[in-house]
Amino acid sequence: MPAKLLHRLLIAPLPYVPQSVVWQMSRRYVAGTNLDGAYKTVRDLNALGCSATVDVLGEDSTSLAEVETARDLYLEALTGVSEQLLDCNASIKLSDMGLRFDTDLCYQVLETIVESAGRYGNFVRIDMEDSSVTSITLDIYRKLREEHENVGTVIQSCLHRSKDDIQSLLDADIAHVRLCKGIYVEPQEIAYTDPDDIRQSYQDLLVQLFEGGATKVGIATHDPLLVEHAEATIERLKIDKTRYEFQMLLGVAGTIRARLVAEGHPLRVYVPFGERWHAYSMRRLRENPGIAMHIIRNLFTRS
Ligand SMILES: Cc1cc2nc3c(=O)[nH]c(=O)nc-3n(C[C@H](O)[C@H](O)[C@H](O)COP(=O)(O)OP(=O)(O)OC[C@H]3O[C@@H](n4cnc5c(N)ncnc54)[C@H](O)[C@@H]3O)c2cc1C
Repeated sequence: MPAKLLHRLLIAPLPYVPQSVVWQMSRRYVAGTNLDGAYKTVRDLNALGCSATVDVLGEDSTSLAEVETARDLYLEALTGVSEQLLDCNASIKLSDMGLRFDTDLCYQVLETIVESAGRYGNFVRIDMEDSSVTSITLDIYRKLREEHENVGTVIQSCLHRSKDDIQSLLDADIAHVRLCKGIYVEPQEIAYTDPDDIRQSYQDLLVQLFEGGATKVGIATHDPLLVEHAEATIERLKIDKTRYEFQMLLGVAGTIRARLVAEGHPLRVYVPFGERWHAYSMRRLRENPGIAMHIIRNLFTRS
């Protein structure tokens, strides 16, 4: 059956699926609805030798109240992480902080969170969203870096522009970057759409980052070929452990994750949590047939 048709068949009934069923599908990927759930997941990950990054679920805030709620949860999370001595930083989507309706507000709120993280000796990662906000996200990152060192951003290997973006971050000596393929469906005028091209781009960009002297690279992938390439590159270029970490999503690729940790590689797990888990899961399911397929497979293979 063609993939698009299969996707449509899988997605069409979603609005009628009870929340409890969606939760069964999602719980492997989401650390509960509140901070206590997130702390517990992070503690368990730390015990397994992984660091973590928390993501308060929510995208595209449309009001000041929503932005403030998200900000307060991040501030609370950073305090809790510090008090509980957890090895965990924070990942933030700028649309959650008002990027799409008030750029100044977004900057101010982000700076508040970065300053708070700084007081705890902690770090904030600015997630990368779709290509309509790539430039503004990188501009905000550059501006923040004028005053703050404890913040990094994300580059997506699917975008044609990423090589130049990396070069400009390297030139400014602010290449503290998570490298991922990119989850958003982008037009072919600006993005690679063939999986092999996205992979090749990923490999080239990783080498560019390491050879260009990036401060630190988050190698965010579960793709066995890319993990293998990254391991070989780290070995070949003798990259110190302080200059990279593997990064994976909660609930994904457990076997590769365990192997990397056992071999002594630093590895961070992305831990989404929050009351908006349902909207997040539905969006992800609608957007990405791959995830729908994973979830359906997990329904049958969950231990
Ligand atoms: C830590 C982290 C942070 C990220 N941050 C961003 C970001 O800021 N912006 C952005 O656009 N994208 C982000 N992504 C998503 C990323 O861009 C990819 O869409 C995603 O990681 C899938 O690509 P892959 O490299 O794992 O390769 P794929 O070829 O997609 O996956 C390789 C294998 O991993 C497994 N797998 C992958 N994803 C899932 C899943 N969701 N559920 C179950 N199994 C899965 C499957 O077995 C699959 O065959 C992030 C990913 C990670 C790991």
